[in-house]
Amino acid sequence: MATVKRGGALHLDPDGEIQGISETHRAIVIGSGFGGAVAALRLGEAGVSTLVLERGRHWEYSATEQVFGNELTPVSEMFWQHDFAVWLTMQPTLIDRMPGLMEVVLAGGIQIGAAACVGGGSVVYAGVTVQPRRRYFEALFPAGVRYDELDRVHFPRVREMLSASYMPDDIYAADPFTHSRAFDAQLKRAGFPTTPIRTTFNWSRVRGELAGRLRPSSVIGESSFGNSNGAKNDLTQNYLPAALATGNVRISQLTEVTSITTGPGGRGYTVRVVQHAPGGGVVASRELHCELLFLAAGSVNTTRLLVRARDTGELPELNEHVGTNWGGNGDAFVYRGFDGATGASQGAPCASAVFVDDGFGMPMRVENWYALAFGGEPYLSQFSVAVDMDNRGTWTYDRASDQVKMLDWGPEKNAAPEAAAAAFSQLVIGRGMAAPSPVLPPTGGTAHPLGGCPIGAATDLYGRVAGYRGLYAVDGSLVPGNAGGANPSLLIAGLAERAMDDILANGG
Ligand SMILES: Cc1cc2nc3c(=O)[nH]c(=O)nc-3n(C[C@H](O)[C@H](O)[C@H](O)COP(=O)(O)OP(=O)(O)OC[C@H]3O[C@@H](n4cnc5c(N)ncnc54)[C@H](O)[C@@H]3O)c2cc1C
Repeated sequence: MATVKRGGALHLDPDGEIQGISETHRAIVIGSGFGGAVAALRLGEAGVSTLVLERGRHWEYSATEQVFGNELTPVSEMFWQHDFAVWLTMQPTLIDRMPGLMEVVLAGGIQIGAAACVGGGSVVYAGVTVQPRRRYFEALFPAGVRYDELDRVHFPRVREMLSASYMPDDIYAADPFTHSRAFDAQLKRAGFPTTPIRTTFNWSRVRGELAGRLRPSSVIGESSFGNSNGAKNDLTQNYLPAALATGNVRISQLTEVTSITTGPGGRGYTVRVVQHAPGGGVVASRELHCELLFLAAGSVNTTRLLVRARDTGELPELNEHVGTNWGGNGDAFVYRGFDGATGASQGAPCASAVFVDDGFGMPMRVENWYALAFGGEPYLSQFSVAVDMDNRGTWTYDRASDQVKMLDWGPEKNAAPEAAAAAFSQLVIGRGMAAPSPVLPPTGGTAHPLGGCPIGAATDLYGRVAGYRGLYAVDGSLVPGNAGGANPSLLIAGLAERAMDDILANGG
């Protein structure tokens, strides 16, 4: 069903319909984002025959064509089964329901971005690859999840797989990164000097865009709905082709798991799946069985599958921690004005950040961000991830609507991280280093859903789900609501690497 193209790109054959898949599998992985891709590769290397079920589709990149829409040109393909295009600052626009690139979940007072494609969040993320701060990580995680081990073994392994690197000087000096240089200058003069951070952008492709060899994408601020020329080293360019190359892994795209339960005779697991047509609509449904089931559908969707399974009695031994400790990672945007040249566009790769421990109510990492729609207005975007230890939500099953919802997250739970970000920006403005922005930033959203199956509570210290042998969570659902002052992908992939090391060495 799936093969590796020359050059390492991912190619899925057209015969991927679920009717052609055998009914019983040794291992099934639900989702092909950070947790799922790591699990698939390590299972494949260990010789375990593995089927990856991914609800979204695989998008082939093009050097010259616009494969993805963007925030300025919304198209139906950008959204997972939505009637309206809505995300942060976008104007609501009527669209057709189809299995598009990103699901936006409205849960109480927060808008949550959750990827829906082969490669998961790596296709739509901004590539920022940073570690949590040790002291905050240790305050958030159980003592048995050791920072030292992740720092020494798993984070370096993931960074190498993803080719994470700092922005080269020639790119930093280019016109689309005028906003990055202005951000660094503002913060330095305000007393908060930034340091470079790693991203997973492919600098030769960014240079290709700057030189006109590739259609501009990353340099005009495309990222949140994909980069058409593959300018990010997303998982379809490293972990997933490597998993397929083991010969033990298959990926079934457009295949959504709707529920999970124990397998025939109480052995293993049964997953119910539906197959989506690329243009919309369900074309088939079926049940598949496996001995080992790895949940990697992302924080929101792994949580929804598990809460439903527990509360409908399909997996009744799941414990009371399932559904809990969910958080939005303290995400907040602020815009500021700036003097001088603006550049013609704002490039997406982030160059730098500063970590602020004290003085604003919450510790936070403040990053130089970008705005696709800035249109020459003299403002720049600041994105921050705060160490929010307090605000958490719980997902519960609502029998009347047959849906899993988070009902206890009101807008007040976004307030403290947003206030911290605004206070920091106000200080920069107050010191005369920048003007207020002529444009308002988005509020009440997170691109970093975390938790719902917290490690050491709903699972053991590696991701073995309590109450069930052979059932694992290996994605952002393990992270207890906050990544300790980091964008979470490196942490999620590092925890998944650590989980797979232990599960494969010590058994289920
Ligand atoms: C716009 C945006 C920008 C971001 N920028 C950054 C950044 O710069 N740095 C950073 O560290 N993080 C960033 N993130 C966050 C990062 O992408 C996520 O934290 C990460 O992808 C989560 O990994 P995961 O394995 O938990 O889930 P995901 O990567 O979300 O993967 C889950 C996969 O499961 C699939 N799935 C879900 N439900 C089902 C189902 N029922 N059946 C089958 N498949 C299913 C989904 O389609 C998806 O492919 C960003 C996110 C967004 C949305």
